Amino acid sequence: MNTVDLHTHTTASDGLFSPTELVRRAKEAGLHTIAVADHDTSDGLAEALEAGHTYGVQVIPAVEINTDVPGTEVHVLGYLPDYQQPAFQSVLTTLRDARALRGQRMVEKLNALGIPVRWERVREIAGGSVGRPHVAQALLELGVVTTIGEAFDRYIGRNGPAYVPRYKLTPEDAARFISSVRGVPVLAHPWGLPNLEGWIPRLKEAGVAGIEVYYGDYSDEVVEALAALARHFGLIATGGSDYHGPGIHPTPLGGRYVPPEAVDQLQAEAEARRQHPAPAFELPPPEEEK
Ligand code: AMP
Ligand code: ZN
Ligand code: FE
Ligand code: FE
Repeated sequence: MNTVDLHTHTTASDGLFSPTELVRRAKEAGLHTIAVADHDTSDGLAEALEAGHTYGVQVIPAVEINTDVPGTEVHVLGYLPDYQQPAFQSVLTTLRDARALRGQRMVEKLNALGIPVRWERVREIAGGSVGRPHVAQALLELGVVTTIGEAFDRYIGRNGPAYVPRYKLTPEDAARFISSVRGVPVLAHPWGLPNLEGWIPRLKEAGVAGIEVYYGDYSDEVVEALAALARHFGLIATGGSDYHGPGIHPTPLGGRYVPPEAVDQLQAEAEARRQHPAPAFELPPPEEEK
């Protein structure tokens, strides 16, 4: 049975379960360790850690930052950051404000397409960090689509008629941001990213110390190829289900084997980083919004 899942989401962003409910389910699934990595927010972490004590599950604090490169999105996970630092919270607030603004614009585009979705409802569904899955949920409620996936395919996917980009960091800046609060940056679900091998050295330079190898529904061949990359570049091989609750991603909580050593390696790396002054990070100006 799998004991480790280093990539999960809660209602603090676009997960369907509260931190407490997620941890309870992790216990039920036989997990010893989970990392909670909500999009652009650490607001679920206090409750998750508390629930971890209650249920006897080790909870690793984390965050997931969605970043942009031309043509695609790249996600960077940050493990064990000093998330209470005001500088960290202030950058996350900026990123979440950009999410809300973009959510409103998507609603406007949907309205222009004749779909009577309301921004107030999207914000209500979201509760915290607003994401496209919340817009999808609102479309589902209206009966405009019958699945979350259909909402992405027909409206809000990257090439959809109601898609709106938002202010995002580059992957390198996300890594620098996480490093500035002594977190360990890890490249999330990397398979299929263009020119991955050429690009890893630049990410390492920016502080990336790990890569998701054991991710979601990656095949054995993909896992083997990524494990070889991790070895070649000296990156920690991590992974997890990317569990959001039923219906958003296919892999169940704890449904992907992740080597338990990954936990020790992340902790050792975080500890090593604490021996040095944290590098500074300054948020690039939002003019870069595309
Ligand atoms: P956002 O951060 O608002 O751009 O939304 C991106 C999130 O939407 C991802 O992290 C996934 O959780 C989810 N997502 C992206 N594409 C799909 C899809 N085709 N079906 C369901 N969920 C998706
Ligand atoms: Zn998500
Ligand atoms: Fe992601
Ligand atoms: Fe995720």
